[in-house]
Amino acid sequence: MTATPDATPASASTGPFWLHVALDVPLDGVFDYQHHEPVLVGQRVIVQFGRRQMIGVVVALPEQPSYPPEQVKAIEQVLDDLPPFPADWLRMARFASTYYHRPLGEVMMPALPGPLRKPSAYLGKRSAGGPVLRMAKRKEKKVDPVDSDVLPVLNAEQQAAVEGIVAAKPGSCLLLHGVTGSGKTEVYMRVLEQVLAAGRQVLFMVPEINLTPQFEQVLRARLARVLPGDVLAVLHSGLSEGERLRSWLRVNSGQARILLGTRLSIFTPMPELGLIIVDEEHDSSYKQQDGLRYSARDLAVWRGYDLKVPVVLGSATPSLESWNHARQGRYSLLSLPKRAREVSMPRVRLVDTRHLRLESGFSPQLLDALEACLERGEQSLVFINRRGYAPVLHCASCGWLSQCPRCTVYTVLHRQNGYKHNLQCHHCGYQAPVPHACPDCGDQDLQPMGRGTQRIEEFLGERLPNARLVRIDADSTRLKGSAQQLFEQVHAGEVDIMVGTQMVAKGHDFTRLSVVGVLNADATLFAHDFRAPERLFAQLMQVAGRAGRHTEGADVIIQTGYPDQPVYQSLIKHDYIGFAQSALNERESVGLPPFAYQVLLSAEAPQLADAIRLLTEARRLPEDYPNEFPGADQVFLYDPVPLRVLRVAKVERAQLLLESAHRPALQAFVRYWGPRVAQLAKQHKVRITIEVDPLEI
Ligand code: ADP
Ligand code: ZN
Ligand code: ZN
Repeated sequence: MTATPDATPASASTGPFWLHVALDVPLDGVFDYQHHEPVLVGQRVIVQFGRRQMIGVVVALPEQPSYPPEQVKAIEQVLDDLPPFPADWLRMARFASTYYHRPLGEVMMPALPGPLRKPSAYLGKRSAGGPVLRMAKRKEKKVDPVDSDVLPVLNAEQQAAVEGIVAAKPGSCLLLHGVTGSGKTEVYMRVLEQVLAAGRQVLFMVPEINLTPQFEQVLRARLARVLPGDVLAVLHSGLSEGERLRSWLRVNSGQARILLGTRLSIFTPMPELGLIIVDEEHDSSYKQQDGLRYSARDLAVWRGYDLKVPVVLGSATPSLESWNHARQGRYSLLSLPKRAREVSMPRVRLVDTRHLRLESGFSPQLLDALEACLERGEQSLVFINRRGYAPVLHCASCGWLSQCPRCTVYTVLHRQNGYKHNLQCHHCGYQAPVPHACPDCGDQDLQPMGRGTQRIEEFLGERLPNARLVRIDADSTRLKGSAQQLFEQVHAGEVDIMVGTQMVAKGHDFTRLSVVGVLNADATLFAHDFRAPERLFAQLMQVAGRAGRHTEGADVIIQTGYPDQPVYQSLIKHDYIGFAQSALNERESVGLPPFAYQVLLSAEAPQLADAIRLLTEARRLPEDYPNEFPGADQVFLYDPVPLRVLRVAKVERAQLLLESAHRPALQAFVRYWGPRVAQLAKQHKVRITIEVDPLEI
C-alpha cells in the first residue's frame, strides 16, 4: 500500500509525516496533510477536502506543517497503482502553474485521465489500483508489415535538416520551415527512427484530431521497421475515457515508445522522452482556450529545454513568435524551400470580385476551373470558413436579422436532415425553428443572407450535377469516425469536389487535388485583432498547399475584393519570408508581440457595467498601492473594453489588456496583482480569467 520504507531516511520512520498535496480546487497553494508512514513525492493520495473526498498529488514533504499539527488532517489512502510521477513531470506542472498563474492542483489533476483522479474508482476497493489498471488492459493492435524499400531518397535539404536535428545541442529548439509538400513528415520520420533506435521515446504533436489517423498510418508503417510490436499510443480529446487511460498508461510505463497526440498530450509523463515534434507549430489549436490557458507548443519548448532533448517545430508558415526566435538565433532554422516531389508550387491567382457578376458567390473563373478539373477527373476543394447554410436570416421589407436571444450575435441558418432548416447560435448552442414570418413586421418573405458550406454544397450540386460532392465541416463530422470516413472517401478517389472549412485546410496529403477555390477570404481581412493578417496568411497558404502535391499544374483561385492587400500579394508569390519580414517590422514599430508580452484579464457578469467596474478597479490597483506591485512601472495597462461579442449565454464580457516589453516584469506584476484582482472579483461577484500570452484579443 505505501512506499518502501528504505526510500526515506531511517530517522524519519517515526512519523507523523507531513505532506503538501496539490488538489484540483480553485484555491491558491497546496494543502497540508499527514500520514503515519512515509510517502513519496509524486504519489497520488486520497484525502478528505471539506466534505469531499479527492485525489491529489504529493508535491512536497515539508519538515513541519504550516498549521499546528493537531489541525492537520491525515490522508485517507495512498494510491500505489502507479509509480510516483517523475520529477520532470512535476517540474513542468510547477512551471505551468507559475507561468500561467494557476494553482498547481488545477494544472496537474485535469491533465490526468479521468479514472486516475476520481476517488470513486478506488474507494472501498481492497487493492487500490486494481479496477483502474484492469480497465487499461487492451488487445495489441495488429501492425501490418511494410516493404521497407519504398522509402524515398531524401533530397539535400531534407538530409541537412535531419542531420541538423540529430546534431542539435541538447535542449535546443529547431524551426523546420518547409513549404507545403516539402517533405517535413519524411524528416520527422528519419529523426524519430534514430531516437527510437537509441531507446528513447518520442512525443509527436499535431494540431487537429482529424490529422491523427493520417499520421498514425504513416507512423505505424514506419515504426514496424525499427521496433517490434505495438509501440504507438494516440491521445486526443475524441477518445473515450478508457482509451485515453490506456494510451496514457502505456506511455507512462514506457511500453509505448511514441505518443501521437493533440495539445493535451504535452502533459503526459514520458520516462524516456528523447524528442518532441510539434507539427504545424503555428496552429492556434495548440492553445487551450479554457481552464488552464496554456500553449502546448510553448510548453513543448520548455519541456525540451528542461529535459535537454531537441524540440522540432515544423511549419510552412511559422508563427511570427517562432520566426523571430529563429531570426535572432535562439532557434536553429532548417529550411525546405521546395517541394519534395518533382512538382512545382501551385499557381495562385487572385480574382478581383469587385467588377464581376458572381453566380451564387462563384466567379466565372472559379466555375470554369472546377468544371475543367471535373473533366480531367481530378479533385477540387472549395474552401469557405463558415459552416451552416447562411450566416443570418433576413427580412427584406423591414431589415430584421435573426439574432440569438442570449448572445449579441446573429443566429446561423442551418439545413437539418433533408430540407428542414433551423437557426443556431454558434456561441451558446441555442437553437430555434425558422419563423414563418418576420417577428417584427409579419412579412413572410424571409431570405437567407450570405453563404455557408451547406448553401455552397447545394449550389454546386445543382450547377455541376455530375460531380460527386462531400462537405467536410464540424456539422458533417459530428459523429465519431465520420471525419475519417469522409477523408478516406476523398483519398480513395470517390469524391470530385470537397466543400470544407479549415478542417480540410491543414496537413492533409491529398494526391489528386488540383484545384482549390477560396470564397470568403476577405471576411477576416480587417478584423480588429492584430494577428488577423498572420492567421489569414497562414490559413490561405495551408489551404493552397493542399493543391498539386503530387501532380503538376495545380490552380488556386482566391476571390477577393482587395487584391492589393499585402497578404494576398505575398501569397501569390508563396513568399512567407517576405510576409513575415514586413509583418515583424510592423509589429516592432508599434511594440506588439513578439516585441512585447501580454496578459489578458477578462471579466464576466450579468451586466457589462459590473464587469467594467471590476476591471477599472483592477487597473487602478497599482496607482492606489504603488509599492505593492513589483514590475508595475514596466507594465502598461490599457483601458477596459467590452468584448466584440459582448454577450454570450446571457453573460456580458469585458477585458483589460496588460503589456510589457519585459516578460519578467510582467510576470512579477501579475504574481501580486492577480490574487488582489481575484479578491476584488469575489467581492463584486464577477467571474475573471487571467490569460498569459493571449492569442486572440
Ligand atoms: P509537408 O508535410 O512538408 O507538407 P509531406 O511530408 O506530406 O509534406 O510530403 C509531401 C509529399 O512528398 C508526400 O507525398 C511524401 O511522400 C513525398 N516525399 C517526401 N519526401 C520525399 C522525397 N525525398 N522524395 C520524393 N517524395 C517525397
Ligand atoms: Zn420584417
Ligand atoms: Zn447564443
